[in-house]
Amino acid sequence: MMTAKENRRRCPAFVDAHVHLSLAGEPRENARRHYELGLGLVRDAGDRDGCLAGVDFAPLEVVRTGPALFKPGFYGRFIGDGRDLPLEEKIAAAPSAFVKVLLTGLVSFDEYGAVGPVQWRADELAAIVRLAARHGKKVMVHVNSDAACRLAVEAGAHSLEHGYFIGADTLKMMADRGVYWTPTVAAMANQLADPQGRFSEHQRRIIDKNYRRHLEMINYAFEVGTPLVIGTDSGSYNVPHGGAFFRELELFAAAGIAGEDLLFLATENGWRLLERPVSRWLEVDLARFPAPAAVAPAAPATSAAGDYFVDMKL
Ligand SMILES: [Zn+2]
Repeated sequence: MMTAKENRRRCPAFVDAHVHLSLAGEPRENARRHYELGLGLVRDAGDRDGCLAGVDFAPLEVVRTGPALFKPGFYGRFIGDGRDLPLEEKIAAAPSAFVKVLLTGLVSFDEYGAVGPVQWRADELAAIVRLAARHGKKVMVHVNSDAACRLAVEAGAHSLEHGYFIGADTLKMMADRGVYWTPTVAAMANQLADPQGRFSEHQRRIIDKNYRRHLEMINYAFEVGTPLVIGTDSGSYNVPHGGAFFRELELFAAAGIAGEDLLFLATENGWRLLERPVSRWLEVDLARFPAPAAVAPAAPATSAAGDYFVDMKL
């Protein structure tokens, strides 16, 4: 029988690969909520016209993409770059090694499987990826529908965000190419609670079907070795800063990924995705993980993050 002590693991802090600190609340207060729950690093995936520039989020480490690239008239103004500037200028000005691109619109809650229009042609997206690479940057792509996910992978995206309706073959392709997937399933599942009463019964049935299919694809992605990370889309409707991270973990557990596997995705894989040295450490009780009560702060470690997951197969 394992003792409680044997279940405790020292590990890098949690990483949320997809948040919007500028949405739903005051940005520094939002950052504080993430930090309190054991997050050490988050990626902000779009702030309208760079509204977070110069904000000090310490002690939380924040990798900002800056405002997202979108085409005027398409989805994304609320987190996007509305300036009339050449693409390369916008890309060069991105405040980190990651550029956010909106490829499709939102998932429809009226018609199952329907997704807002594709904004960029394949050659345009490939050109964005090339321009980003010229400036030492990688591209994270907001994308839904299998065809658009495939387009993003073929264009050289570094990570796919959301990916509703993604297909098995696309996930295998991502596994082969090392393209990360941030499924943000809590952002869909949490719509069901609908505290503002926004949705009809018909829409709720579609939301339910969407997130259940997504859980199956998350399970499949893990089986075939698609690099998975935890991202919440915190700041969107009913996706609270901080708490949504544990909701996303619960849903991954419901998808069949648990224990040490899940801890790896929630911690080290996020630091790998964002290519940052670990700046915060935790002690996590695997017997209670992913409950928030399983997490305690730990003193800084001197070893590399990888030392704590030497047996992992990912
Ligand atoms: Zn987002």
